[in-house]
Amino acid sequence: MKIAIYPGSFDPITNGHLDLIHRGLLLFDRLIIAIADNPDKKPLFSNNERLEMVKANTDASNRIEVMIFEGLLANLAEERNACAIIRGLRAVSDFEFEFQMALMNRRLAPQTETVFLMPFEKYTYLSSSLIKDIARFNGDIANFVPEMVERKLKEKFGFL
Ligand code: ADP
Repeated sequence: MKIAIYPGSFDPITNGHLDLIHRGLLLFDRLIIAIADNPDKKPLFSNNERLEMVKANTDASNRIEVMIFEGLLANLAEERNACAIIRGLRAVSDFEFEFQMALMNRRLAPQTETVFLMPFEKYTYLSSSLIKDIARFNGDIANFVPEMVERKLKEKFGFL
């Protein structure tokens, strides 16, 4: 059984994340989507809101588990016997930070490989922060996030 962890803020989940989840399921038997509980990042959505949005938009099959996670990713990977950590690479700008993290995680959890996946080209410029910036001014984000997330963003920014 090959288990991969896909960690991130998912604040909120976008079609780019969903693209990576789809690709991850082609490679691994199970995916654990680990939503980071990191108050330093001052997320727009609470842990539970982010969890609810991820759960509602990922297949409920037993191949995906969604959890809130606090602490060291390397520890979680070891505890859950994960052979891989999935991260996305959109542009060269992602590279430096991701490279550093991947090597450190290899040091901390040697049996877990970081695997980088590239999204479909149309999602390469998509990020949760850009989506929030557009939604804040009621811009059109319908092509970039699931309908439920679009509604949640509208509510959050007082447009519904
Ligand atoms: P983090 O705060 O850990 O970067 P994010 O939710 O922003 O959390 O991203 C989680 C992971 O998903 C990262 O590896 C990021 O590169 C990837 N990701 C986010 N948006 C996209 C996208 N549009 N295409 C591909 N990967 C993405």
